[in-house]
Amino acid sequence: MAAKMRSPADYVSTRALGVDASGIRKVFDLAARMKDPINLSIGLPDFDVPEPAKLAAIEAIQAGNNRYTQTQGIAPLRERLRKELSAEFGRDVGEVLITSGVSGGLFLAILATINPGDEAVFLDPYFVMYKHLLTLAGGVAVPVDSYPDFRFHPDRVERAITPRTKLLILNSPSNPTGVVMTQAEVDAAVDLARKHDLLLVSDEIYEPFLYDAQGGLPSAARAYDKTIVLRGFSKSHAMTGWRLGYAVGPDAIIAQMTKLQQYTYVCAPSPLQYAALRAMDVPMADAVAAYRRKRDLVLDGLSKRFEVVRPAGAFYIFPKAPRGTTAAEFATRAIEHNVLVIPGNVFSERDSHFRISYATTDEKLVQGCEILSALAQ
Ligand code: PMP
Repeated sequence: MAAKMRSPADYVSTRALGVDASGIRKVFDLAARMKDPINLSIGLPDFDVPEPAKLAAIEAIQAGNNRYTQTQGIAPLRERLRKELSAEFGRDVGEVLITSGVSGGLFLAILATINPGDEAVFLDPYFVMYKHLLTLAGGVAVPVDSYPDFRFHPDRVERAITPRTKLLILNSPSNPTGVVMTQAEVDAAVDLARKHDLLLVSDEIYEPFLYDAQGGLPSAARAYDKTIVLRGFSKSHAMTGWRLGYAVGPDAIIAQMTKLQQYTYVCAPSPLQYAALRAMDVPMADAVAAYRRKRDLVLDGLSKRFEVVRPAGAFYIFPKAPRGTTAAEFATRAIEHNVLVIPGNVFSERDSHFRISYATTDEKLVQGCEILSALAQ
């Protein structure tokens, strides 16, 4: 028998301990204690799943589509996505893998490519999961500061590339800044990837939410076939709880991701894959138009008192905290005044900005902007 018994915490792996979720948890803990807050922290649409998709889910359940699907997903959904993505990118994109949300796709992409010590470069501010998934995989997260304009600066990105760099992760439209990469920026990213022989991972989960772009989202996948594109239904059709995403990319990598999915998530939820296929026929232009208006509302409400970069996509804006306060201090003050925002240090090595999600009612948005502006005076 061991001399000293282990406490339950002693069983926890260093891998698990290597991930620090304290920042975001603090915000959620505070939120749980608030009564009817003006919640500008939530990263999901405020509309509901379109009715035809709900009905299709119920029909699929009643029709008995409740078993495992093939690991890669149901054929009609994969075929439909392959056709649409191939038309969009101007080449056959190959097999589509249906994933358990874009989170699932990110996890599999990183697990399939990152060896211990491999480096992945991405812009700071970033979607938090990148950093943590890379740590879990034994890789090294290399955030590249993109303040104050949050644009893709090829010179800064290139300085971060080393012989150990394997991935360049792009996220456009961006969470948390709402910035959308221009075609020129995407071209610059592709040039860097070619020059340094990198794999691109392009997180395009907010692709439908574009407010200023004409001709669709500039995607690296059009010009560079060593790109893994990750998209999903969570945001586009307000089904974050349904866990549906998809991935396309080089065959050799999609095949490994499929194998890894078999031993982790197994498959995306079966009836909901049928529902997603139906959801693809629902026009979502009205929702996008509503968010464009909310974007304008929040810009108008904040730009007098805050330094802001005009967001062109997703449903986030990332204003700078007033001079003399850190974002964490400002977010705490906002929360004391019943407005919930997320301090930038959750998404960044800096703590100077805060994230607002404007996916809420116009009324709450206007109230929230007024309170935040008053606090900034
Ligand atoms: N990527 C980004 C940039 C996101 O903001 C999110 C969700 N907040 C995800 C991926 C994960 O999305 P899903 O719900 O499909 O797993």
